[in-house]
Amino acid sequence: MHRKIFKNANIFDGVHEDVFKDFSFAVDVETGKITEIAQEISPAADDEVIDVNHKFVAPGLINAHTHITSDPNISTGGDKDVVETTVDAIKALRAFLKSGCTYVRQCGARYGIDIPIKRLITEGKIDNVPHVMASGKAYTMTGGHGDYANGGNVVDSPDEMRKKIREGLKAGADCIKIMASGGVMSPGDFMDEAQLTIEEMKVAVYEAHNKHKIVAAHAEGNPGIRNAIEAGVDSIEHGFYVDDEEIAMMKERGTYIVPTIIAAASVTEKGKETLPKWEHQKMANAMDDAYTNVKKAYQNGVNIALGTDAGTPYNYFDMTTPKELEMMVERIGMSEFEAYRTSYKAAELMKIDDEYGSIEKDKYADFIIIDDNPMEDIKAVQQTDKEVYVSGRKEF
Ligand SMILES: [Zn+2]
Ligand SMILES: [Zn+2]
Repeated sequence: MHRKIFKNANIFDGVHEDVFKDFSFAVDVETGKITEIAQEISPAADDEVIDVNHKFVAPGLINAHTHITSDPNISTGGDKDVVETTVDAIKALRAFLKSGCTYVRQCGARYGIDIPIKRLITEGKIDNVPHVMASGKAYTMTGGHGDYANGGNVVDSPDEMRKKIREGLKAGADCIKIMASGGVMSPGDFMDEAQLTIEEMKVAVYEAHNKHKIVAAHAEGNPGIRNAIEAGVDSIEHGFYVDDEEIAMMKERGTYIVPTIIAAASVTEKGKETLPKWEHQKMANAMDDAYTNVKKAYQNGVNIALGTDAGTPYNYFDMTTPKELEMMVERIGMSEFEAYRTSYKAAELMKIDDEYGSIEKDKYADFIIIDDNPMEDIKAVQQTDKEVYVSGRKEF
């Protein structure tokens, strides 16, 4: 077995709050997995030794909510054709990886091209990109959130949902995204509008779970949030208006919230001048409420997973994931450890935590190397020239 041995590493493993000072870890070059973590590892003759120089090694970030086919400068992705969209999607993936994201879940992709992109990555035909969990196009109702050209699978009955979900899974979707409420992205729909019926969503959940796939529901307000929880989805995306009763329901059922607060903040802070007034106003009103409600959910023990909604207006791909961690500390009141843990929670939600999400034996060696201790200041993760490794290979 040919190994890479990283020595003099200060390891934050994503599981323990304490950093392991001046440790070593070994990676099997063939499998890309960590085989050993110890204070000292003596190298064999054909092992490669890499001196980390007392820098900090931390798990690659898992982002559970991204849109690589969206353009942060155009709210609906505009009328880019499939070729341009594909080129931009690959650029987006590279930006994610450079920022420290080693695994991204799609939550609806225009043209459904995340599925073939993921396949090409798996076949080794696209490099310098993170692992991808592909959703294909999101499922929405006529006139619902995401019902724009090439944007969504439009369904208007339980039977239509069943057929479309089965087609999506047949095409290779790893996960399913449904739209349970209005939002800030579609002209003319609002957060307090329920979208899709509980029956339609239940069918989506049944068909996806039957194939061991997870379901994410865009739900910003009520009754959309409640409907989606009742339908049995795995995660509520945004959840800005989650209430006490829903918090209790989510705890009981193990439903996650992926708050994507950077998306709300980006629209509000940067979009004032350039976005349509209706869009900016909707978000500005909701933002303070969102902080309060998500914080309450967190304090009451709901699982919070990392996601950014990158691709939405002014919500770029390059540094928003590390910034979301900072916002978890600043706005939701998490410790640095709990903030970083949202990345591991994302791995749990995505059911990949047996192989990803932390620096532990038998997991893939997906990690970042940064100068400062993220457990002292989460902003350390925002270092622009960090090193990024995927399966033990240096990518940036
Ligand atoms: Zn959404
Ligand atoms: Zn989204």
